[in-house]
Amino acid sequence: MKTTKIEWTDKTWNPITGCTKISAGCANCYAEVMFKRLQAMKQDKYKNGFTLTMHNDVLDEPIKWKKPHTIFVCSMSDLFHENVPFVFIDKVMETIKSTPQHNYQILTKRASRMAEYFSDKSIPENAWLGVTVDIASSKSRIDFLRNLNAPIKFLSCEPLLEDLGDMNLDGIDWVIVGGESGVRARPMKEEWVTNIKVQSEKQGSAFFFKQWGTWGSDGIKRNKKANGKLINGKVYQAMPTL
Ligand code: SF4
Repeated sequence: MKTTKIEWTDKTWNPITGCTKISAGCANCYAEVMFKRLQAMKQDKYKNGFTLTMHNDVLDEPIKWKKPHTIFVCSMSDLFHENVPFVFIDKVMETIKSTPQHNYQILTKRASRMAEYFSDKSIPENAWLGVTVDIASSKSRIDFLRNLNAPIKFLSCEPLLEDLGDMNLDGIDWVIVGGESGVRARPMKEEWVTNIKVQSEKQGSAFFFKQWGTWGSDGIKRNKKANGKLINGKVYQAMPTL
């Protein structure tokens, strides 16, 4: 059963919560907004606010899920945050390795730290690794990812904040694109999306368009549901093949 609203995954697992901003896309961080709500609901796990916190008590959570799931790791943080000790990441990887019935999606903006972590460790066969590319200057993260031996390597271009220009997608299996939502959302232009779609198709990466967000393809601000997820009347939500 799908227990998250994130379209390209079906479960979330948060052994770490809280973060600090590192990228243009962090300005209206979804996790930070969610934190305020969860804190107001007095949920114990979120009592520290957005301060980075490790949760040893949920490290074995996926072991209890017997049915196979596609699990997004750390939707409320960044696993490779500089304050997460490698020994804690080791524990996360142990759980991933011990649950081959699941696939795990690990997305980071700290691409160099992810590469450093895996420089002397094997990547679990069920761990998909991804980096966020929200502005053109963050394309350097792709090079750190490309050199890693993960079964699936993916990009999340969300929120897409400017034209990314030419992209080298060699070795990249999957590209997700989406616009920002919320009251402070920044607009995304249709030509920025088309540029990535065309390059993904040419270079053989599966292309997944999540949503326009608060700004429609026509450049008008309205409800994100009304703006939808069509590009020229079609849904593009390809998944990578293992
Ligand atoms: S890296 Fe992710 S979780 Fe951390 S502040 Fe940025 S958007 Fe939020």
